[in-house]
Amino acid sequence: MDARKVLIFDTTLRDGEKVPGLVLSLNEKVRIAKQIVKLGVDVLEVGFPGASEGEFEAAKEIVATVSGPKLVCLARPTSKKDFEAAWKVLEKADNKGLHTFVPASDAYREHFLKKNREEVLKIGEEAIGYAKKYTDDVEFSLVDTWRADPAYVVNLGQMAVDSGATSINFADTVGYATPREVADLVDRINAEVKGLDNITLSIHCHNDLGLAVANSLAAIEKGVNQVHCTVNGIGERAGNTALEEIVMILETRKDLYGCETSVDLGEIYPTCRMISQITGVLIPPGKPIVGANAFIYETVVPQVADVKEKPPYEVIDPDELGIKKEPELLKKDATKEELGEKLAELGLSLNPEELDRAYEAFKELAERKETVFDEDIESLVVEEVLKVPARYKLLYLSVSAGSISVPNATVQMEVDGQIIQDAAFGRGPVDATFKTIQKIVKRKPKLTRYLVNAITAGTDALGEVVVGLQEDDLIVMGRGIDSDVVMASAKAFVNGLNKMELYRKAPPVSEFTEEEVFAPIL
Ligand code: MN
Repeated sequence: MDARKVLIFDTTLRDGEKVPGLVLSLNEKVRIAKQIVKLGVDVLEVGFPGASEGEFEAAKEIVATVSGPKLVCLARPTSKKDFEAAWKVLEKADNKGLHTFVPASDAYREHFLKKNREEVLKIGEEAIGYAKKYTDDVEFSLVDTWRADPAYVVNLGQMAVDSGATSINFADTVGYATPREVADLVDRINAEVKGLDNITLSIHCHNDLGLAVANSLAAIEKGVNQVHCTVNGIGERAGNTALEEIVMILETRKDLYGCETSVDLGEIYPTCRMISQITGVLIPPGKPIVGANAFIYETVVPQVADVKEKPPYEVIDPDELGIKKEPELLKKDATKEELGEKLAELGLSLNPEELDRAYEAFKELAERKETVFDEDIESLVVEEVLKVPARYKLLYLSVSAGSISVPNATVQMEVDGQIIQDAAFGRGPVDATFKTIQKIVKRKPKLTRYLVNAITAGTDALGEVVVGLQEDDLIVMGRGIDSDVVMASAKAFVNGLNKMELYRKAPPVSEFTEEEVFAPIL
């Protein structure tokens, strides 16, 4: 019997982007979209264009750049403007669909819409109607499905089918469901909703109780054939269903589920690593499938005589995921063409001007560093070439610290084209550096997070620093990479300041009438 196809609906760029403090530039979003397309997903949610001008422009650029999977945009049910914006973005795509939603639970319905159940059924019907003016491909989501009355969930499902939705997605918006409840509800939908033959049933889970993957799997077991997920499971709070985990469960246990996906397994590791690099959301070492420790066996299994054989204790072959045991290192005297080939291999295709800049940075690094790993090159490109357009630029840093002197820093920066230099003392070199930057930019964001991570091995390794900066209600993450940790910290701080600018220029919520104020919580 042929394996059953499970569709992978990627929402990294829409729901995944809600990681607290994460702000992605247009360029970063396009890079991520290209890599996810290369990974081989079936559906790519390119964004929520009605939310802001920035979202609209980014989604448009993604649609102009990628092709292959079905491209989908989200629109709020009561906002005709959202549907118009979504369609303006999607118009030129070959394969496309619209996505809208209504609250299923009483709590959400009353809180966000202040309408009764009958009225929400009507709103859903109208929303599908708006969408169908543009396309036949309409996904309809139920928000907070598992805290809703199951009988009402059936009513909403039936309304969606009758109104012409082609896909019905059940969202466990707050991560409340358990696998058994998911299975029971899917059974009930299948038994009671009429006309499901050509309808895609879909699930969207959150990981608040650590059950996002288990719940998605429970739905698949009951015949649901589409899963919403994000790369590395990133998303607000505890995140969403991790794409790489659900794909590898279906792959590893094909014997049990008889399901397949269209994902190219060899792109899993490069994708997860690249998205962690760009977002600054680090992958925990114990994370299944792609964590640094995921394939390190501490309990020593007796060496088998023939080492070429697949180890008997290994259920997943790391080679299949694109994890190279011995990566081919780029020579220090590599040519620009060789660097270009290496970058393409790492999923980073640059234009000639970007490649020039990357090559300059590579030559500089090769002079300073014993061994240049793939990770070094990747970080370099993300840092030097693909960074957000900057209002603040770090030009020069000098610190003095030690056990007897008072740590102090001198910093030179360019602010709005003007060069400013200043100095300050601090409790340590990093503190002194941050205080000096604050003096120069005349802003004092609160430091909510400070993380240091070595990207590669050795004392000359590139250090990655992630800072959380808060100004009023706005929290952003800044990232900096350098072989000097103080310098990486300064870069991270300045990057955070630039991200704040980016965010303030394109605040996420545009002007809506009172009718349309309905948070896209899904
Ligand atoms: Mn969600």
